[in-house]
Amino acid sequence: MKIGVDIDGTIKDTHRAAVEVYNEELDQAVRVEEVTDFYLDEAYGLSKKEGKMLWRKLEEKIYSLGLPLPHAAEVLNELEKQGHEIYFITARPGMKNIEKVTRKWLKKNHFPYKENNLIMNSQNKAKIAKEIGIDLFFEDAPFHLDKLVEEEIPTVIVDAVYNRNYPHPLKRIKDWREVYNLIQK
Ligand SMILES: [Mg+2]
Repeated sequence: MKIGVDIDGTIKDTHRAAVEVYNEELDQAVRVEEVTDFYLDEAYGLSKKEGKMLWRKLEEKIYSLGLPLPHAAEVLNELEKQGHEIYFITARPGMKNIEKVTRKWLKKNHFPYKENNLIMNSQNKAKIAKEIGIDLFFEDAPFHLDKLVEEEIPTVIVDAVYNRNYPHPLKRIKDWREVYNLIQK
């Protein structure tokens, strides 16, 4: 199978990384559990525009922090060993510095990353998934899930506080080790 894997919120706890970096930048002590929205703006009292600008300023730092999700690398390596192809498909912007930090992070955290299986700037993940011929997609963000569902790409939700009320009935994992059973089915 060709397996599409998002990065932020799917194999990395980006939500937690972002709260850490925002707290430092804004000298606040917001707890990650308090931020139930996908965006951090409301928790920090930022307007949408302010939030967007701050994210742009801090994203490189957020992406470079550790925090891989437990067992994600181990399970993806095992799937690759079994003969599946893994593609990292992220909407992170394709700027040089962001791409560099993303590649470095994947390597450092021992993901099955091989130069040509990272697709940056994937705003429309369903389109990319179709082009590659993805058989199964792992994603956390409601906005991207909508498109994947619309285009009928078989998709699994990686559980997060901000997607618990996602209206479409998709398979959901809370731990990457659940993927073995799911793939056998
Ligand atoms: Mg994501």
